[in-house]
Amino acid sequence: TKPLERKPDWLKINLKTDENFKEIKSMMRSKTLHTVCEEAKCPNIHECWANRTATFMILGDICTRACRFCAVKTGLPTELDLQEPERVADAALQMGLRHCVVTSVARDDLQDGGAMIFAETIKAIRRKLPLCTVEVLIPDFLGREESLATVLEAKPDILNHNMETVERMSDRVRSKAKYRRSLELLQRSKRIAPSIPTKSSVMIGVGEEWDELLQTMDDLRAVDCDIMTIGQYLQPSTTHLAVSKYYTPEQFALLKEEGMKRGFKHVESGPLVRSSYHAHEQVKSASNV
Ligand code: SF4
Ligand code: SF4
Repeated sequence: TKPLERKPDWLKINLKTDENFKEIKSMMRSKTLHTVCEEAKCPNIHECWANRTATFMILGDICTRACRFCAVKTGLPTELDLQEPERVADAALQMGLRHCVVTSVARDDLQDGGAMIFAETIKAIRRKLPLCTVEVLIPDFLGREESLATVLEAKPDILNHNMETVERMSDRVRSKAKYRRSLELLQRSKRIAPSIPTKSSVMIGVGEEWDELLQTMDDLRAVDCDIMTIGQYLQPSTTHLAVSKYYTPEQFALLKEEGMKRGFKHVESGPLVRSSYHAHEQVKSASNV
């Protein structure tokens, strides 16, 4: 296949750094915390941090899986940091967050996959910042229902688990995660805690077809998923999965329409949309309807 042309203009971003930004970065380092905003060089970091939304990555920065689109290091993690929940809550307080997203690497080495640390982090943020909404973006915990239940007991405002891609591409793009198991997780979440909105994301441009995307929307609605986000896949390095296609802003708008027609309460769809982009608005729309 011929290499794709250079990135379209709508994907070019300007990453500038100001004082406030530097201060937050050094605070993160002093607390030995990681944010996806920084690690993934997220193009929305200025907008999100200014809007007081950030995504923390807990349970370390080494993942037991190796998805072909993901820049996180793979290996065998060595520790479990029991103080991490408190430090995340302190950082969230210091940043004055209104919406805090908590995600993690996949810790398949741990019996509960890290569910207890997720639950403790939600509780610690609630204690220190009662007005801050908390969204968890969880791994599949290898399909263990007890782990999911542990997280839901701590009552996050949004339970997010990403499909990442359409069914046909799933095994090629993700490592260990299964399309059906991810759908099942979202379905179980609604069964265990019906009042907690669920959310899922796909990145597009990894080899899927348009109709397959619509099928994924149908599959998500069939398990009553409330919120969907859709963004353009960008290759983190030349060793990662190649981009198959750059979708235009008009195509993203069309996907949003298709999603809203299917009954999602909120669809965030755009070239630079990431799972946690505009997440604060989503809490409102998911709980108002
Ligand atoms: Fe961070 Fe998510 Fe915003 Fe990116 S979209 S800056 S990862 S909160
Ligand atoms: Fe990256 Fe998550 Fe896959 Fe680990 S499980 S490689 S953190 S996408």
